[in-house]
Amino acid sequence: HEYAAGIAAEFLERPLGELRIVTLHLGNGASACAVEFGRSSETSMGNTPLEGLVMGTRSGDVDAGVLLALLREGYDVDALDELLNHQSGLAGLSGLGNDLREIESAAAQGNDRARLAIIVFAHRARKYIGAYAAAMGGVDAIVFTGGIGENSASMRGRILQRLEFLGVIMDEDRNRDASVQSDNDYAVITTPRSRVEAIVVKTN
Ligand code: AMP
Repeated sequence: HEYAAGIAAEFLERPLGELRIVTLHLGNGASACAVEFGRSSETSMGNTPLEGLVMGTRSGDVDAGVLLALLREGYDVDALDELLNHQSGLAGLSGLGNDLREIESAAAQGNDRARLAIIVFAHRARKYIGAYAAAMGGVDAIVFTGGIGENSASMRGRILQRLEFLGVIMDEDRNRDASVQSDNDYAVITTPRSRVEAIVVKTN
């Protein structure tokens, strides 16, 4: 997150200490961070990586009451651990596995669980952007990184939908064409008149 926020500040040609940035690392592991004037003031992973965003096989946020109900049903600690860390998230929702490429192609062919997995993943990420913008009193930039953040234009587009009220105006063409490599480590996906810049950054 520090690296991704640093690249965003470089692009914006402003000191990190003057910026409020939400970074989204979206890969098999996924997390969001509120980088508030150069400090991480919020991050979605908790005491363990399980909390927060929907991940490849981890649930992210889940009602603690669900765990109590599962314990009552006979799950033990190891079974709960296996369920929440290895059988949930995109894999559990889609029933297909943790590879978003496969899930996107199944969704395109009408697979309802694959569609659900994509919708839930994007919805959760969008909620965190809104929450962190509120917690920081505003946001200057949103940064996407990780395998999904770098490569899935469709997921980025879905996450940014409905964020116009925050001042995010996505540029469809820039989003579709964004491509980051080690020698070209960021791409902007918002329009020049967007108040908030959304940037794709190659993970380091
Ligand atoms: P990471 O853990 O950062 O390597 O990210 C892995 C995730 O990125 C997996 O869910 C992959 O399916 C996803 N991913 C990688 N390339 C693409 C792509 N071209 N389109 C959609 N998802 C991708």
